[in-house]
Amino acid sequence: MKKFILLILIFTTFTSMADSLSLNKLIGQFDEKKDADFISLDSTILPVNKSGMYLQKEVTQQLIKAYQDFKKVNPNIPFIIVSATRNYDYQNRIWQNKWNTIFAKLKNEQKTAEEILKYSSMPGTSRHHWGTDVDITSVSNEYFKSNPQGKILYQWLQDNMPKYGFCQPFNNGRKGGYLPEEWHWSYHPISKNYLAKYKDIFDKDSQLIINKLNFVGHNKIQLKEFIKEYVFDINSECY
Ligand SMILES: [Zn+2]
Repeated sequence: MKKFILLILIFTTFTSMADSLSLNKLIGQFDEKKDADFISLDSTILPVNKSGMYLQKEVTQQLIKAYQDFKKVNPNIPFIIVSATRNYDYQNRIWQNKWNTIFAKLKNEQKTAEEILKYSSMPGTSRHHWGTDVDITSVSNEYFKSNPQGKILYQWLQDNMPKYGFCQPFNNGRKGGYLPEEWHWSYHPISKNYLAKYKDIFDKDSQLIINKLNFVGHNKIQLKEFIKEYVFDINSECY
């Protein structure tokens, strides 16, 4: 009997792990508000710039520790969550809006995608789909380079976030991918599994992913090359 229960336990652990990393979750095609692994930031002490944002529970716990420790030494410097989980539908709205504006000017699909990709992801390829990644306080490079409070915040994030499990995926000095984002931090113990699974599927059969991405322009751009660059050209510390 005990062996039987143990077997069931092992089986359910395995299936739930596999389930939590389904292709749909990797590409954000799920509802974080209905997912038991996720928690609303509105129910925590973390300052947010809008309501309705979610993160994975373990990520939230570690982020709260970082926030509290930051505030102990910098009580008057803003540490605010300005973006957390963004699912496929949410990212698709961002993409569609930018596409409308930029395509009207450039009249070329590939160039339009390149322009959007400087800062925004294609739906299905954003690390924000995973519930492991957050944007902190500002999404302006200028803020972290020139604003005195921004400079202190960025120095602290670089010095301390690894202690809580976070890495900076879009750091300086990469050859391709997104431009540097001082504000974007990723909870490595979980996001590394998402990235590994994403890469595994992509390397074995990239069409499995590509077939599910139906955003505007998807069939007029070099989608596979974009995924390769923008998903995988990140800080090696985030692998
Ligand atoms: Zn971000």
